[in-house]
Amino acid sequence: MNRVIIVTGGSRGIGAATALLAGARGYAVCVNYRKNRAAAETVVEAIEGAGGRAVAVAADVASEAQVIHLFETVDQALGPVTALVNNAGILEQQMRVEEMSAARLNRIFTTNITGCFLCAREAVRRMSTRRGGAGGAIVNVSSGAARLGSPGEYVDYAASKGAIDTMTIGLAQEVAADGIRVNAVRPGFIYTDIHASGGEPNRVDRVKEFVPMKRGGQAEEVARAILWLLSDEASFSTGTFIDVTGGK
Ligand code: NAP
Repeated sequence: MNRVIIVTGGSRGIGAATALLAGARGYAVCVNYRKNRAAAETVVEAIEGAGGRAVAVAADVASEAQVIHLFETVDQALGPVTALVNNAGILEQQMRVEEMSAARLNRIFTTNITGCFLCAREAVRRMSTRRGGAGGAIVNVSSGAARLGSPGEYVDYAASKGAIDTMTIGLAQEVAADGIRVNAVRPGFIYTDIHASGGEPNRVDRVKEFVPMKRGGQAEEVARAILWLLSDEASFSTGTFIDVTGGK
């Protein structure tokens, strides 16, 4: 079977590590990105350099039209998707809820929640055995923040990940009989560029003392959990979670 994976936000961080590992495991890979084409192309070149197949496709997951275009482009370039990693996600400047504008809340929720739903919708339409598809697997990238709430930093972001956890449970049960498994990973403090968006690039080093393993995580450690959940090794797991948090 031709295994085709879409990794949203695959141009850097956890998404890039996931795209690279998927390429090494034999998937044809779509590296989705929003703005940074050069970074996405670097990931594509690394996959191709290792003998794999990959394409970079620009799309803002918060835009329904762009998500539809993303999946149609992949249909043409690689074939119907068999695996989706809903990884694209954003956070904004650390602040208390009493300071948050509606515009900010809508940016966070539209990208992190609506984007995840739209990509899942397009994937299910192609994967579902009820619709003539061959089945597939979806992994949502949630966060340990869904359990912790991120007080004083970004309760909006944490709440968006809580929504993703609930969506994972509901969608998993909805499509379980249609050949599709839906699971999530909840990363903890991982060394990526996302923390700069919150105004604290070195956040992981500040908070790592609170982690039982006394360190931050690497994107590759999250990628390995994602690839396991996508694989046949996880064939009887759906609607469940892997925390990749060093114990917290
Ligand atoms: P990152 O380094 O900031 O990378 C984010 C990626 O998402 C980039 O490729 C970016 O592409 C893309 N992206 C952002 N908005 C997008 C949009 N609207 N449409 C399409 N692509 C978009 O982030 P990361 O730390 O790897 O995080 C990846 C996921 O893990 C997120 O869902 C995040 O919430 C979750 N997570 C991260 C941590 C952590 O500590 N790092 C912990 C828990 C959960 P462009 O550069 O082109 O915009």
